[in-house]
Amino acid sequence: MTDLSTTLLVIGGGPGGYVCASRAARMGVDTILVEEGKLGGTCLNVGCIPSKALIHVAQEFHQAQRQARDGYHGIRVSEPELDFAASQAWMSGIVSRLVSGVTGLLERSGVKTIIGRARFIDGKTVEIESETGRILVHAQKIVIATGSRSAELPGIPFAGAVIDSTAALALQTPPERLAVVGAGYIGLELGTAFAKLGSKVTVIEAADRILPQYDDKLTRVIRRRLASFDIDLHLGTRVTGWNGVAARLLLETPEGPAEIGADTVLVAVGRVPNTDGLALNELNLQTDRGFIEVDEHCQTRMRGVYAIGDVTPGPMLAHRAMAQGELVADLVAGHDKAWDRTSVPAVCFTDPEIVSVGLTRHEAEEAGSCAISEFSFRASGRAMTLDDAEGFVRIIARESDHVILGMQAVGPGVSELSGEFSLAIEAGLRVEDVASTIHAHPTLSEAVQEAALATASMANHG
Ligand code: FAD
Repeated sequence: MTDLSTTLLVIGGGPGGYVCASRAARMGVDTILVEEGKLGGTCLNVGCIPSKALIHVAQEFHQAQRQARDGYHGIRVSEPELDFAASQAWMSGIVSRLVSGVTGLLERSGVKTIIGRARFIDGKTVEIESETGRILVHAQKIVIATGSRSAELPGIPFAGAVIDSTAALALQTPPERLAVVGAGYIGLELGTAFAKLGSKVTVIEAADRILPQYDDKLTRVIRRRLASFDIDLHLGTRVTGWNGVAARLLLETPEGPAEIGADTVLVAVGRVPNTDGLALNELNLQTDRGFIEVDEHCQTRMRGVYAIGDVTPGPMLAHRAMAQGELVADLVAGHDKAWDRTSVPAVCFTDPEIVSVGLTRHEAEEAGSCAISEFSFRASGRAMTLDDAEGFVRIIARESDHVILGMQAVGPGVSELSGEFSLAIEAGLRVEDVASTIHAHPTLSEAVQEAALATASMANHG
């Protein structure tokens, strides 16, 4: 057994772990990172990046089909063919480039990276099972950044045709009939992509609405678009079983038991934290349904043991994991900091996209009087030139002083508005600040200024 000593040990090389390790090392902290799979974690390898690449491929194919069918935008092409193996190769190429980038970043930063599986011996010691044998690491500070994995449906384990998002992203051909269980963002992003690639998609959701974290007015646009892709949506419906031999999914609908045929069943009902296997029982941590509770320093109940990213309670998003990673790196390097972010932006890469930053309409109204203004993309020249003018931008401000509390949008490419939304809220801007900022014409961002103008004085095009 090899014995190593270090100041900081980071367990998990996803966005939380690699950002934390490289930042700490660049600030002079002696750092080891251990990763049991691939550097980049879920996000780079089987999450954010390949899913967005798949969505892009699907959109391109969908456009080409429209052009072949009806000369969309005056462009006539012959019937497009999908070479999905080539699409997959393109997607893998992006992932490989990004993973090499992370590997290089860690090297340049001076992080010692070990590929292996970590488990705690005690709050200062971790045993790593690596290909070259067992390694014992003694660390003054340890960061748990082990991420999450797809949750299974009770009684219907992942096997054969029942797959999780990781397997969905690795499919060699789009399935003929795809059933997606769960109308959260992962289920809808992948379901929409496969529908555009030619699959007959059915989405089954136990709740009575899609994307429960967004309000009805935002999701209504998505529902209309799902219907236009011929995606069947079954709300208020539970999956009760899977008959693999007959390829039929058994359902309990509001009208009673039902069945649908499916070649592949993508289960996207949430994610569970990766805490088992770490021997966390050796530590005195506080957990809630597997998530490790942390304070405003990402510190667990045990001194010197931190947790960041999907393994902690909160939105399971890469940018939150990275921000927590930065925070812990700064703390370990001796800086006095605490988690003081006002908001974590949430983006849904559906068609069209949704972005929400800060308080939702409901939360803001509960908190007190607020001024809410919206601007429709129907009045946006840029949206018209994109031939996609459904959707709107909303700004929610405190009534008394017009400080912006929340911003939401649904529409084409609105994920790119998330930066302006976050900046406005994090900087404590008032609607008047946004209203008096010149937004370039013609861009979708003009709708943000117009929504602000509607509260501050009057919209120019409202
Ligand atoms: P992870 O990225 O999960 O990394 C944890 C790492 O720890 C893994 O590499 C794992 O192998 C390693 N590990 C686990 N246990 C051990 C151990 N015992 N020893 C050593 N190593 C270990 N988020 C967004 O912000 N935007 C998106 O568009 C988006 N799209 C997504 C799409 C899909 C299909 C999925 C599944 C997720 C998506 N996410 C998205 C979520 C995002 O991927 C996660 O929030 C993010 O990866 C969490 O980062 P993390 O560092 O906490 O954990």
